[in-house]
Amino acid sequence: MRQRKAEAETGPRRVLITGATRGIGRAMALRIAREGYEVVITGRKPSPQADEVLKALEDMGAKAHALYFDVTDRAAAQTALTEFTAEQGPFWGVILNAGINRDGPLAGMSEEDWDLVLETDLGGFYNVLKPLILPMARRRSGRIIVMSSVSGITGTRGQTNYSAAKAGLIGAAKALSAELASRGITVNVIAPGVIDTDMVTAEDRERILPYVPMRRLGKPEEVAGLAAFLLSDEAGYITRAVIPVSGGIF
Ligand code: NDP
Repeated sequence: MRQRKAEAETGPRRVLITGATRGIGRAMALRIAREGYEVVITGRKPSPQADEVLKALEDMGAKAHALYFDVTDRAAAQTALTEFTAEQGPFWGVILNAGINRDGPLAGMSEEDWDLVLETDLGGFYNVLKPLILPMARRRSGRIIVMSSVSGITGTRGQTNYSAAKAGLIGAAKALSAELASRGITVNVIAPGVIDTDMVTAEDRERILPYVPMRRLGKPEEVAGLAAFLLSDEAGYITRAVIPVSGGIF
């Protein structure tokens, strides 16, 4: 397999994908495993959905693990990730994908909905990456992919919390790319438009479709394809990029 030669040079290409129990994270886990990477999926708790993803990965013959922690829980993230890397070695790639939305106009938005979206979508950046950065940097080769959103670029009505968190992720990823470039680690941002997953309600679909030039929702696999490319050796000189997968929505 293509990854074998690379592994001989830098150790196993193990990739952590947060929020990979369903949706875009699941599609990325399957796609990336197919490319020969070792995959570690995460979710908040063990669930039938997480088991299904693990089984699908194992059926493909992939080396796969699951870790369970809430990305808003700094101590839990630190413990799970530090214990895992102490046993298995550092990650080569990290895809920060776990995320939620709690939409509504700011005038009616609860404190809880504001805080939870910021703590999950932006707070997860610190809580997950902080325990992993030094071991990755020592390896002098790696990839970090951050899942933002078109909302983080344009700001979307009814999504002040989500747009703020996703814009914050773009700033954080750009800053981190500058910190890690000399270590051979690229940091890039994927900004999906509207992708057909549990996150998008039937009303969202009706409302948003007229604004999508391609007049359809994206498929999780169409985001996974870009993630696989950003992990590849061919993408080794791409860093600090923000790449939409959006059917042209703006
Ligand atoms: P889904 O709702 O389908 O899946 C979300 C995933 O995140 C699940 O695996 C869930 O795990 C995990 N997750 C949620 N909260 C937490 C938490 N606190 N701790 C740990 N894991 C958590 O979402 P999508 O696949 O649609 O979205 C994936 C990413 O892409 C998100 O960051 C989202 O903001 C972004 N995105 C999605 C778009 C879309 O249209 N779908 C558009 C733009 C960006 P579990 O519930 O099993 O614990």
